[in-house]
Amino acid sequence: MSLLSVIIPCYNEEENITFFYNEFIKNQSFFEEKEMEFELLYVDDGSVDGTVAEVKKLHERDERAHLVSFSRNFGKEAAMYAGLQKAKGDYVVIMDADLQDPPSLLPEMFSYLSEGYDSVATRRVSRKGEPPVRSFFARRFYKLMKKISQTEIMDGARDYRLMTRQMVDAILSMKEYNRFTKGIFGWVGFKTKWIEYENVERLKGETKWNFWKLLIYSFEGITAFSTMPLLLASVVGVLFCILAFLMIVFIIVRKLIYGDPVSGWPSLVCIILMTSGVQFFCTGILGQYLAKTYMEVKNRPIYLVKEEI
Ligand code: UDP
Ligand code: MG
Repeated sequence: MSLLSVIIPCYNEEENITFFYNEFIKNQSFFEEKEMEFELLYVDDGSVDGTVAEVKKLHERDERAHLVSFSRNFGKEAAMYAGLQKAKGDYVVIMDADLQDPPSLLPEMFSYLSEGYDSVATRRVSRKGEPPVRSFFARRFYKLMKKISQTEIMDGARDYRLMTRQMVDAILSMKEYNRFTKGIFGWVGFKTKWIEYENVERLKGETKWNFWKLLIYSFEGITAFSTMPLLLASVVGVLFCILAFLMIVFIIVRKLIYGDPVSGWPSLVCIILMTSGVQFFCTGILGQYLAKTYMEVKNRPIYLVKEEI
C-alpha cells in the first residue's frame, strides 16, 4: 500500500473544512483501485475562527484527518512548508481549502506520475472572477520574472501540485526563510507535467490576498529568485557616469570656444534631483536584498506549532 499525503493550508476556513473533505472523499473508489491510503494534513495557519474546532470534529469522524495548528498566522508559505515536513506519504499533494484546486483532477494527475513524471503541476488558463487590475499586474509579474530569473516560474501556476517523495525531500532541503514556493518548485527541477484548467471561484469565505499583499509577495519572488535588480543599479550608475563625463567635455569645449559664462541654476537643480532620485532608488534595491539577508541570517523558525493531532 502506498500513502498519499494531502496538505491543506487553512486560514479562517471554518466553512470549507467539511466541504473539502466531502469533495475529496469522492475519489475513494479511485484510491481503492490504486490500493492507496491517504492522510489529510490540515495546517491551521493561526486562524481566528472555528477552523481548529472543525478539523477536530472531522478527526473524530475520520482518523485520517490530522491537524497542525500554528501559534499565529505565519502565511501560506510557512503552512505549506510545515505540511511538507509533516507529510509521511510516498506522494504529496498541496491543495487549497476553498476548493479552488479541484480534487477531481487527482486521478488524471496520478496517471502522469505512472508515465514517469516526478511532479504534476496545475495552472489556470483564465483568471475569471478576479479584479482586472490584479490580473494585469499578475501577468506583468510573470513576464518580468521570465526575463530576470533563471528559474522557471509559470504564469498562472497554482500551488496545487502532486509530487513524489524524492521531489518533496528536495524541496525540504531548501531551508530558506524567505520562501517563494512557486520558484522553489522550479528551482529543484525534476520532470514536471503541466495541466491546465479554468479558474474556479472560491467556495465560501473571502480571499486572504489583497493587492498590497500580492505586491509585497511579488517583491519576495523577485529578490528570492533574481539578483538582476542589483545589476540594474550598477548599470544605471555607469550610464550616469558616462552622461556626466560627456557633459563635462561639452561644457569645457563650450567655455574654451565661445567663452560662455556658466548659466542657469534651474538645470543644475534638475540634475541634482534626478541623480539623487536614482541614488535613492538604487539604495532601495540594495536595502531590499540586505533586509532579506538580515532575515535569513537571523535563522528564525519558519513556523511555530501550538497543537498537533
Ligand atoms: N492561506 C493560509 N495562510 C494565509 C493565507 C491563506 O494558509 O496567510 C490559505 C487559505 O486558507 C487557502 C489558501 O491558502 O486555503 C489560498 O488562499 P486564498 O484562497 O485566500 O488565495 P487565492 O486562492 O485567492 O489566491
Ligand atoms: Mg483561494
